[in-house]
Amino acid sequence: MNELETRKKIIELCKQMNRTGLNQGTSGNISAVHKNTLLITPSGIAYDEMQPEQIAQMSLDSENDDWEGPCHPSSEWHFHKAILKRNPSFSAVVHTHSTFATILSIARKPIPSCHYMVAAFGGNNVRCARYATFGTSELSENILEAMNDRSACLMANHGMVAAGANLDKAMWAAIELEALAKQYYHACQQGSMVLLPNSEMDIIVEKFKTYGLKPSS
Ligand code: 13P
Ligand code: ZN
Repeated sequence: MNELETRKKIIELCKQMNRTGLNQGTSGNISAVHKNTLLITPSGIAYDEMQPEQIAQMSLDSENDDWEGPCHPSSEWHFHKAILKRNPSFSAVVHTHSTFATILSIARKPIPSCHYMVAAFGGNNVRCARYATFGTSELSENILEAMNDRSACLMANHGMVAAGANLDKAMWAAIELEALAKQYYHACQQGSMVLLPNSEMDIIVEKFKTYGLKPSS
């Protein structure tokens, strides 16, 4: 994808996440790597009105908030940059305030090995990052800790974040994590629960190295 296509794709996914109920209002944000720069949604702009030129462009290398474009980058640029810099196999990040992931994050409950899909995120659980104020480098550090060897995490009293090799894969991960959060939430209401053993989760983590969303063409 060239730069304009990437900008348009980010906006298309923002609209999709609100249309499908995965997110609401101006909450959440999406970023993608383009040629050692970060393309990230602007802060506080309604997705239906967002134009490609409003997507902010930042250096991936610098630690500051310098950006190019007419609008301020998302207040969460710290963790978008940090996730993408730490793991070069990720090229895109989706952050949402999706309902069930947020409910679990309010309870500060990680998702245990209640379903094999937990392994899609790299291990035997999906952790919940410790709470920090939105838009801070402290929140970014807490997310990096929770995403160690993982492609997603819940964020205490806030929502969730998921990363992927491209924008479609990051969105796929966010959708699957919300489904998992919903299933785990309802399973908790229902009472007893059987968790998959670590030995089985290890097998499934290996299988996920070659399984998952495939390109459509
Ligand atoms: P921005 O509009 O600045 O991206 O903030 C939304 C959000 O979800 C903050 O955590
Ligand atoms: Zn948020």
